[in-house]
Amino acid sequence: LEEQYRQAQKMEAVGQLAGGVAHDFNNLLTVINGYSDIILTMLHAHDPARPMVEAVKRSGDRAADLTRQLLAFGRQQVLQPQVLDLNAVVGETAQMLRRLIGEDVELVTRPGDPLLLVRADPGQVNQVLMNLAVNARDAMPTGGTLTIETRNEVLEAGTAPDGAEMRAGPYVRLSVTDTGTGMTEDVRRHIFEPFFTTKEQGKGTGLGLATVYGIVKQSGGHIEVETVLGHGTTFRVYLPGIGGMTASQSPGESSAPKGAE
Ligand code: ADP
Repeated sequence: LEEQYRQAQKMEAVGQLAGGVAHDFNNLLTVINGYSDIILTMLHAHDPARPMVEAVKRSGDRAADLTRQLLAFGRQQVLQPQVLDLNAVVGETAQMLRRLIGEDVELVTRPGDPLLLVRADPGQVNQVLMNLAVNARDAMPTGGTLTIETRNEVLEAGTAPDGAEMRAGPYVRLSVTDTGTGMTEDVRRHIFEPFFTTKEQGKGTGLGLATVYGIVKQSGGHIEVETVLGHGTTFRVYLPGIGGMTASQSPGESSAPKGAE
């Protein structure tokens, strides 16, 4: 719990810092990207300056992507939880995920139960899926299989894998499995920390799993990871099922993780 508390504090501090910096950067980038576009329309097709301005534009676009990620991470997002069928969300995201993981990775979806109701913010569930899928893809540079499995599961009260207290009741389980590189114990221990990345510079931000972790905790859920070096990794996300709502968890109330204030 001590560890979890420190993690929450760290996330909040980093989030605020990142959000502030990203916001300022975003304003500067608006100028860079905006004027690059205008200059490009003024240049002839064979103007020698064109490739250079195009390079500025590409870097600007990439920087804008990064700041968007940072902003999403830092923002105290206003959640709009609604009743969702997780199968439907996976179904709607599947096409985008296929594009994301490329042709060498096969996507398999396994809806274990016909209906999987959770109360969650659809944008956030999407983000969890995308971040886990991007990591899975990066772990399978020569191809493999990405399996997304969903099912209802009733958990008993106890201690979650991350050390948090776990409420008994119905949950919906989302498993994302890859047949990739797996992780060493040393890497696994740090993956949810903001800015922890093993990817080469310019590839990873180290914010993907920290964001996933934040979202799962905000939703009152849990996340666990099982990994075998050289064989692959499974992330299991548990989101509280609808039946598990108690009176004190009415939709209007925020369910920020304890100790995050
Ligand atoms: P980033 O993807 O930008 O590096 P993340 O927070 O998403 O940041 O991931 C942190 C690190 O966790 C990755 O750099 C990688 O070392 C490890 N990791 C995450 N997912 C996987 C996976 N599916 N297989 C192997 N390693 C992973």
